Amino acid sequence: MRLILLGPPGAGKGTQAQRLVERLGVRQLSTGDMLRAAVEAGTPVGLKAKDVIARGELVPDDVVVAIVADRIAEPDVRNGFILDGFPRTVPQAEALDRMLNDNGIALDAVVELKVDEKVLLGRIEHRVAKMVARGEPLRPDDNPDSLKKRLDAYRARTAPLTGYYARKGLLKTVDGMASIEDVTAAVAAVLQQTLEGAAAVPARRRPLAPRTAAARKAAQRRSGRGAAARRLTVRAPA
Ligand code: ADP
Repeated sequence: MRLILLGPPGAGKGTQAQRLVERLGVRQLSTGDMLRAAVEAGTPVGLKAKDVIARGELVPDDVVVAIVADRIAEPDVRNGFILDGFPRTVPQAEALDRMLNDNGIALDAVVELKVDEKVLLGRIEHRVAKMVARGEPLRPDDNPDSLKKRLDAYRARTAPLTGYYARKGLLKTVDGMASIEDVTAAVAAVLQQTLEGAAAVPARRRPLAPRTAAARKAAQRRSGRGAAARRLTVRAPA
């Protein structure tokens, strides 16, 4: 299962990605986490990104694309991944298409968590309050000025991706205003439909369908699709 979670800051992408990781047995690839780790480690990328992130602006496309290209090539994501926070611009989405194409893999779905903008600030304030209560260090971009810029960046540069993926027939929209459990159930349901839809496509319309049962099984093992479908069926909440 190869999936993109799309939605504004505070939509719950990180929370849902973590829950889906357990269900699907795939990796969460969060560019925000990767960039924060680079800042923490003081790498050249981290030094470039530090102030941009703190201001709530977007890190340049080439920097983020290079990080994701390296990560996607690692063996632990062979079974699939959930991209959280990437792509965030149309050029990033185009770069991702090229990367996937070069690796002979395809996206299964793009799930948009649709959330009323009015609740986003409140959600992030709630997260900040909980982190303060636990004595955890705060993110430098969780302040009103940077948050406004993060929302502006989402509206101007990321929101157009819904159209981009809708045109490719990959976009699934889920109500992100429901409870955490209900959102997970809704995402699991759309993924289940996607997997069943893929399985229902007649073999002759599938590109390069393996001809023998053994080859089919091997391909399924390589893509991890069979296992992901079984896990979703078994573990999706009622
Ligand atoms: P959130 O979704 O809460 O805004 P993230 O943790 O996904 O937070 O990202 C934090 C910051 O990291 C972003 O505001 C941006 O500066 C940078 N960043 C993360 N992913 C990308 C990306 N794909 N392109 C550009 N900048 C990014």
